[in-house]
Amino acid sequence: MSDEIRNVIIIGSGPAGYTAGLYASRAMLNPLMFAGYMSGGQLMLTSDIENFPGYPQGIGGPEMMMELREQAERFGLEVQDRNVESVDFSERPFKVYSEGEEHLAHSIIICTGAESIWLGAEGEAEQKGRGISTCATCDGAFFRDQEVMVIGGGDSAMEEATFLTRFATKVTLIHRRDVFRASQVMYDRAAANEKIEIKPFRQVKKWLSDDSGLTGAVIEDPRDGNEEQINVSGAFIAIGHKPITQFLEGQLETDDEGYLLHKHHTMTSVDGVFAAGDVVDTRYRQAITAAGMGCQAAIDCERWLEDNAH
Ligand code: NAP
Repeated sequence: MSDEIRNVIIIGSGPAGYTAGLYASRAMLNPLMFAGYMSGGQLMLTSDIENFPGYPQGIGGPEMMMELREQAERFGLEVQDRNVESVDFSERPFKVYSEGEEHLAHSIIICTGAESIWLGAEGEAEQKGRGISTCATCDGAFFRDQEVMVIGGGDSAMEEATFLTRFATKVTLIHRRDVFRASQVMYDRAAANEKIEIKPFRQVKKWLSDDSGLTGAVIEDPRDGNEEQINVSGAFIAIGHKPITQFLEGQLETDDEGYLLHKHHTMTSVDGVFAAGDVVDTRYRQAITAAGMGCQAAIDCERWLEDNAH
């Protein structure tokens, strides 16, 4: 328990969190960040980032997160590599609980992101980032002139499959049933693409690999258990995302899928609590858009504190 009331506590440490930390520390707000035990967010799972402006040769995901952190710390961001277990936003100062300790703050910026849902098939954990990915925008270009597969029946799966045809020679899209959640236009675009083969009633039973990485998968028909082998060097799981908001225990308004809602610019349903990045973003989900929103949240927070703290 600390009696000190911080101006702002930032929860989460992806590009949104570190950018919020950079702006808040340069604004002399003396921010405290709970970065989580696995600091850095989803980009820690990405090998190379080629679409963040300013890195003409690309940069590794973990390396970029370390640089963002170093940049924010240079201006005074205090980072604790701990998880937040719960919060109390019912009154001010707000309370944040980490490892049983209570921390107080006039304002909060939540940047905990979202996590892709993985299939959890046999052999998956070993091949994450070594051929199995959840982001075609991030990793698709590594599969130039190779065969890949996409798993899912929603808009994300259609979009990823279509995007991957820019690089891959063939994209096999498998879905566990023959009804697709994808919008008709997205489905039609994928179905009309000569490089895409859509196989309904298929699910991954297990992943196949050798020393070089992924080599394919055993897929099965859920109706009769019939199995077949598919040879691919890349696989993209597109079965949805879930925002990381469990620790909030319903204290902030969300949409039906649990993403936080902005009520006024980047402020959530509780005055003084802001949110940025994938924890609110169901549409763009890019490092650069998360960083931009982290900047917006820090500026909104600074202005709100001027009028409301003390
Ligand atoms: P989604 O619409 O929820 O689709 C998820 C898909 O994954 C469904 O086909 C589902 O199958 C399948 N799935 C879920 N769990 C599975 C499992 N364990 N094994 C195999 N398959 C599984 O998710 P999304 O495609 O990520 O889209 C999310 C939202 O973003 C949607 O509102 C979408 O319209 C929007 N979005 C829009 C665009 C765009 O407009 N450009 C692009 C991407 C996403 P079942 O159908 O059998 O449950």
